[in-house]
Amino acid sequence: MPEVVVSLRGATVTYDGRPALDRVDLEVRSGERVALVGPSGAGKSTLLGLCAGRVLPTSGEVEVLGQPLDRVSGATLAQVRRRIGTIHQGLNLVGRLAVVHNVNGGNLGRWSTWRALTSLVRPREVEQARAALERAGIGDLLMARTEDLSGGQQQRVALARVLVQDPDLVLADEPVSSLDPARADDVMRLLCETVATPDRTLLVSLHDFELAVRRADRVVGLREGRVLFDLPAAAVDRDLRDRLYDLAADA
Ligand code: ADP
Ligand code: MG
Repeated sequence: MPEVVVSLRGATVTYDGRPALDRVDLEVRSGERVALVGPSGAGKSTLLGLCAGRVLPTSGEVEVLGQPLDRVSGATLAQVRRRIGTIHQGLNLVGRLAVVHNVNGGNLGRWSTWRALTSLVRPREVEQARAALERAGIGDLLMARTEDLSGGQQQRVALARVLVQDPDLVLADEPVSSLDPARADDVMRLLCETVATPDRTLLVSLHDFELAVRRADRVVGLREGRVLFDLPAAAVDRDLRDRLYDLAADA
């Protein structure tokens, strides 16, 4: 049985007395590709924040990569975070810089400040960055200015950065929400095929229910901070979707 990478037990996060997550139990094992779906406000970003150690539980337990994130020292938390790759809604790319520098951002957890700064003058690890971009399907864009790229290409730059970082766990919060459906499917396929390898785990929130079912191995439906279902993608049907989004009454 692959090792447990993420374990939430009774995880609750309360803001101003209202639970954003309400006693959530979730276990994700190494190599799984798990999609989080649910209406806006269901708690998807909060759950990903817990796994990244950015949000602390009000009660319950959060264990990621073997460490109880709510109880570890700052140094241990930093160590765990270096093994986590994130792909955000807003991408966090620096538009003015060439693609190679943004891809090399995946090395920042390992590089000294000096090494990082000098790399901006003369890029280091260019071959590694080029190889990652090739796997992301845009090997020819190494020296392009990042802000000149299309949304889909920038999303691929973010994937290449995660490949360079080579983390054990990838957390992605609605990574394709700014793309049209065809490009979103393309980038999700890449995310699942190249970034999520058998020993790298993916936890991704998606607002596109069909995309989640098509690309992930397992789908977790969140609603009002609680897990409504947690099933293999093949077992998820329209009825569950309608209940998740409260469409059952119209059906
Ligand atoms: P989702 O990502 O599924 O849209 P979120 O995790 O962002 O949901 O939010 C879940 C609930 O928690 C929402 O009701 C939201 O308003 C609330 N919430 C999230 N973050 C904060 C915060 N920093 N302060 C107060 N309320 C928050
Ligand atoms: Mg969100």
